[in-house]
Amino acid sequence: MDLRIGNSGIIFDIKKFAVHDGPGIRTTVFFKGCPLTCWWCHNPESQNFKLEQFINPKNEDNGRDNFKIIGKNLTVKEVFKEVEKDIIFYDESGGGVTFSGGEPLSQPEFLLSLLKLCRINKIHTVLDTSGYTTEDIINNIKEYVDLFLYDLKFHDSEKHEKFTGVPNQQILNNLIKLSENGSKIIIRIPIIPGINDDSDELNKIRYFISNLKNIQGIDLLPFHKIGKNKYIKLNLPYLMEDFNEPSHEQMEKIKLKFDSINIPVKIGG
Ligand code: SF4
Repeated sequence: MDLRIGNSGIIFDIKKFAVHDGPGIRTTVFFKGCPLTCWWCHNPESQNFKLEQFINPKNEDNGRDNFKIIGKNLTVKEVFKEVEKDIIFYDESGGGVTFSGGEPLSQPEFLLSLLKLCRINKIHTVLDTSGYTTEDIINNIKEYVDLFLYDLKFHDSEKHEKFTGVPNQQILNNLIKLSENGSKIIIRIPIIPGINDDSDELNKIRYFISNLKNIQGIDLLPFHKIGKNKYIKLNLPYLMEDFNEPSHEQMEKIKLKFDSINIPVKIGG
């Protein structure tokens, strides 16, 4: 098997002891670079495929974090070395490694090498993805992914393109194929008042999901503004200023709507 141990990729963080990115205790590897530009993205430093700088214009961190390089080129071997340090915790908790981003599928060879190494070492793998990639790439990686966390932001492609920069036909097609393939999938829907929380859009998403197979759960992710400061540090416009975070009552109401399709639904990741 060609593991291409020497091949490398760009990541912007490795988070240890993550508990919201799949089952058990996990290490989450954040790939840098995403073909989407979602207005609400709380990790804007994940979007650019190149190294970049955080600059704190207000000196808010007392000099501690005023200038920081975001991103690092690492080899497969270097990333795996970090991941395997916590194997004992994965085994005890039913956890493993989660590949997130950014969009991991935008660095397919790097991702595939890591997935294969995890499989050989019996480490459970989760792929957190927007699904925006080719069918060939999905076909190449799917057998090495134990669980997909698959974003579904809209059913309507025009709205998807307006708020993320790309249409969603390929995303929906890839999801249908994965579901038919027998892959385990949790669908993650960001709930953004004024953007995708209207009944028409949510009903279309619900109907689409109800026709899929192998869906293990639906996570409803309330929009929040905690990433706002990062936009300032990257000198990027923050487009979500006038949008509100959903209330607990709004989220419960939306949960009720999805409860009716007999798939476990939860609020949060
Ligand atoms: S798909 Fe995820 S990482 Fe990419 S821009 Fe959207 S929210 Fe950010």
